[in-house]
Amino acid sequence: MINEPVFDIAIVGAGASGTVVAAQLRKRTAARIALIGNGTRPARGVAYDTPYQSYLLNVPAWNMSAFPDDTDHFARWLAQHRPQATDKDFAPRTLYGDYLAEILAEALRAPTPITPIAGEVVSVTRAEDHWRLQLTDGTALIARQVILAVGNLPPNDPPGFSADLPGYWSNPWAADVATNLAPDAPVLIIGTGLTMVDVVLALRERGHRGPIAALSHHGRLYQVHASFTPRPLTLLIADSPQRALRWLRTEIERAQRGGNNWRAVIDSLRPHTATIWRSWSLAQRAAFLRHARNLWDIHRHRVPPQVGAQLDDLIAQGTLSIHAGRILSAEATPHGLRVNWRPKDSAIFQYFDVARVINCTGPNRDYGRVTTPLITSLREAGWLTPDPLKLGWVTDDDGRLIDAWGNPVAGLFTIGPLRIADLWESIAMPEIRVQAAALAELLVTELQAEPVMV
Ligand SMILES: Cc1cc2nc3c(=O)[nH]c(=O)nc-3n(C[C@H](O)[C@H](O)[C@H](O)COP(=O)(O)OP(=O)(O)OC[C@H]3O[C@@H](n4cnc5c(N)ncnc54)[C@H](O)[C@@H]3O)c2cc1C
Repeated sequence: MINEPVFDIAIVGAGASGTVVAAQLRKRTAARIALIGNGTRPARGVAYDTPYQSYLLNVPAWNMSAFPDDTDHFARWLAQHRPQATDKDFAPRTLYGDYLAEILAEALRAPTPITPIAGEVVSVTRAEDHWRLQLTDGTALIARQVILAVGNLPPNDPPGFSADLPGYWSNPWAADVATNLAPDAPVLIIGTGLTMVDVVLALRERGHRGPIAALSHHGRLYQVHASFTPRPLTLLIADSPQRALRWLRTEIERAQRGGNNWRAVIDSLRPHTATIWRSWSLAQRAAFLRHARNLWDIHRHRVPPQVGAQLDDLIAQGTLSIHAGRILSAEATPHGLRVNWRPKDSAIFQYFDVARVINCTGPNRDYGRVTTPLITSLREAGWLTPDPLKLGWVTDDDGRLIDAWGNPVAGLFTIGPLRIADLWESIAMPEIRVQAAALAELLVTELQAEPVMV
C-alpha cells in the first residue's frame, strides 16, 4: 500500500454514468475523487463515442439533461450549439458526447479537481477498511468507496460465430463497422432492434448501397416516436405480468378511443415501472421476459420519426429485408461468409452468402459468463452476484452490490445499466441522472459518518 495513491471515492468507468456521478459528487463535496476510464475519449462511453453523424439520440432533447434538478440543461446547451434546434429534436449522439465531455471538463476543473486516470481496472479487492483497485499497467490505488460505472458490454456471439471469423463484426459499436466494404457488398445484420437501425444508417452514411438482410427470432421491427397527450397514470393493478399486460391493453384501447395513442400509456408507466417490477417474483419476471420482453422493448425504446422513415424507404425499395428465424451455423467462404438459418415456422433450411455479418443482438448482461478481468475477479471473490435472469447484477435499493451470501457490500456501488435486474428501467439518461444524484448524496453522507482513513 506504500506509495499507492489514496482517494475517498474511486469511480470505475468514464462513460455517461461515471461522468454524471462525478459531476454530482463534485457539486457536493471536496473529497478526493478518482475517475478511471479505459476509453479513448472520456465521458462518451459506447453510446456517444461514435464517428457516425447519422446516429441520433432516441430520446428528445427536452428529456436528455444530465441533471434531474435542471431538466432543461441539455436543451439549453443544444440551443447554444445548434441555434436552429428545438427541444423536441433528436440530436446526433456524437453531439451529446460533446455535451458530456463539457460536463466532465468542468468537474475536472473545479476548485478541488477530480483526478482522471487512464487505464483499465482489473481487480477490486478488500483490505481492512478500504478497497484496492489494481490496473492493467501494474499500478494500484486505494479508495474508501467505489462506484462501478462499467456500463454496457458488446453482445454475445450467436451460435457458430467467434470474433476471429473473417468478415464477422462481433462488436456493433466498433468505429469501423461500416468501413472498408465494397458499396454493393451484401451484408447480414443479426438482430432487428435499435442497433440494427444504427448500423444500417452507418452503412448508408459510408456509401454502402448493397443489399442488407436483418434477421432475428421474431423479425419484429422498431416503432417510431410520435406526439401524444401525456396522461397521468390513474389506477394500476399489476401484481402479476398477466394483469399488467391486461391493464396495458385496456388502457391503450381507452386512449385510442379518446383520440390519443399507445405511446401515452407506455410512457405514463415509466415512473412506476421499478415498483411494479420489484413487486414480481423471480418466476413472474422470467415469464414477462419470455412472453413480453421484445414487445416491451420495441414500444418503450422507439426511433426518431426521420429514422423510421429512412428505414421504411429502404425496406420499400428492397435494399433492406427483414427475416424471422434462427441461425444454425456460419462458415467462411472465398467471398465472405455463408450463414445457414431456418426461417420461423418452416422446416426448410436457407442460407445467406454475405461479405460481412454484424452482430446487433444487444448488450451482453449475462454476468455469470462474462470473462473480463474485473468482472471475473469480483465474481470469484463473491462481491458480485450475477442476476439469475441474466439482466445484470444483484443490487440493493441504493445500487450497492449484493454479495454471494446475500449481504449488501459496504462501499461498493453501481449505477445505470448494471441495475436493470433490480429496477428494470435503468439504462437511459432520465434514470441515470436521478441515480447519480441520489448516489452522490448517499456517498457524501456515508463519508461524513466514517472516520477518515490515513
Ligand atoms: C448504442 C447505444 C445508444 C444509446 N442511446 C441512448 C439515447 O439515445 N438516450 C439514452 O438516454 N440512452 C441511450 N443509451 C443507453 C445508455 O446505456 C446510457 O445513455 C449511457 O450511455 C450508459 O452509460 P454508462 O457510462 O453507464 O455505460 P458505458 O457507455 O458502457 O460506459 C462505461 C465505460 O466504462 C468503461 N469501463 C468498463 N470496464 C472498465 C474497467 N474495468 N476499467 C476502466 N473502465 C472501464 C468502458 O470502457 C466505458 O467507457 C444508449 C445505449 C447504447 C448502447
